[in-house]
Amino acid sequence: MEALRFGCPHVGTCCYGLRRVRAYELIKAKRDGQPLSAEQIDQFIRRYTQELIPDYQMAALCMAVYFRGLSGPELAAWTRAMLHSGEVLDLSDIPGVKVDKHSTGGVGDKVSLCLTPLAAACGVVVPMVAGRGLGHTGGTLDKLESIPGFKVHLQNAEFRRLVREVRACIIGQTETLAPADKKLYALRDVTGTVDCIPLIASSIMSKKLAEGIDALVLDVKVGSGAFMKEMVSARTLARTLIEIGAEMGKRVVALLTNMDQPLGRTVGNALEVKEAVEVLQGRGPADLVEVTFALAGEMLSLAGLTNDPSDARQRLNSAVRSGAGLNKLEEIIVRQRGDGSVVHDVSRLPQARGRIEVNAQADGFIAEIDSEAIGVAAMVLGAGRERVDSLIDPAVGLVLRRKVGEGVKAGEPLVEIHYNEERSVEDARNRILHAYRIGPSPSVPRPLIYERLGWKG
Ligand code: URA
Repeated sequence: MEALRFGCPHVGTCCYGLRRVRAYELIKAKRDGQPLSAEQIDQFIRRYTQELIPDYQMAALCMAVYFRGLSGPELAAWTRAMLHSGEVLDLSDIPGVKVDKHSTGGVGDKVSLCLTPLAAACGVVVPMVAGRGLGHTGGTLDKLESIPGFKVHLQNAEFRRLVREVRACIIGQTETLAPADKKLYALRDVTGTVDCIPLIASSIMSKKLAEGIDALVLDVKVGSGAFMKEMVSARTLARTLIEIGAEMGKRVVALLTNMDQPLGRTVGNALEVKEAVEVLQGRGPADLVEVTFALAGEMLSLAGLTNDPSDARQRLNSAVRSGAGLNKLEEIIVRQRGDGSVVHDVSRLPQARGRIEVNAQADGFIAEIDSEAIGVAAMVLGAGRERVDSLIDPAVGLVLRRKVGEGVKAGEPLVEIHYNEERSVEDARNRILHAYRIGPSPSVPRPLIYERLGWKG
């Protein structure tokens, strides 16, 4: 067994007498549509994590998976192998039901920043391992890091302590949580294998299951700013994630939510923190509040605090009215060594040096906003990353003055650009103008929450 566990360094037949998986044979088998056994998958991922299988062979296997997919048992084995490539936290000694939320990524998606303190203020324990932005999508860690001093890199022991004491903690993936995913995600990013449902699902679930959660709420975004542009693929991803959760004995709910336009009115890290604070002060934009409350309500239900959506809403509303949600955000920030006073004075957040408006070129109503193009416009200003190692500027971004369905006259602002580098402004401005489609009459915006799938209560 030792050879399977730790990966024997010898080539060919293993010195421990166990049949050794040859990477080459396995890649060909998957390429030709033959099923892989759990043991083969486990060994492949284990040996890749230990750098005994090179990136080029893993890339070839991922490409074979991209075209051939993974069966249910293969997907379960793949996820399990990624999960057990590192430490799996056991939070069972911490009282309360531990529920996390994961979004598949969008533009202006600052839901985690308002939902985490609200759910925690209502009695849910929230251990959250969040991600960084890449390409047109933003990431919770980058947003939190725009708060002066905020630390997202904590060791597992400190994470555990804060989950116990604060009842919520948001960190980045540590070196020991699902390390196979960390390595694999970077590889997929440069080998055209990110947009593959079994690889996305196993990547997300291995990280989430490693946190020691009891249950999970998924925000599967659908639309122009999402990975999944169509309902059919979003539904397949949601079902795949739910099945993996069920296989691992976890309760999972997925909401399919609208990402046809950016959520809220801001895109960019410090600007999004400011908007999240506004939600906790009871004056956030309606779409952001609706999505936050829907997802947080599911967390309350998964935690066994209420089964009634209107009761969940009331509890969340009272956490806003009483200031308990805002106080919880302050506590999270302070305990993660950030400047908690930003929740009372958002001018302490980084501010861009320049602002300029992009104005409408015709009268009419906003018919459509290409969210991906808006995300890329924010990225070129420096709010997002073109590559995994790009540096980001926390202060820059966009404030959307008009959203779908709203009227505008020629010369009135569509978007306000917050910039530090003048040379990026023209590019951002052109992208914004192309992203907005102005029509002659008001269109009816599509619903924000399309569907709920998963655990029935
Ligand atoms: N988010 C992840 O964590 N993994 C993926 O593969 C895609 C999005």
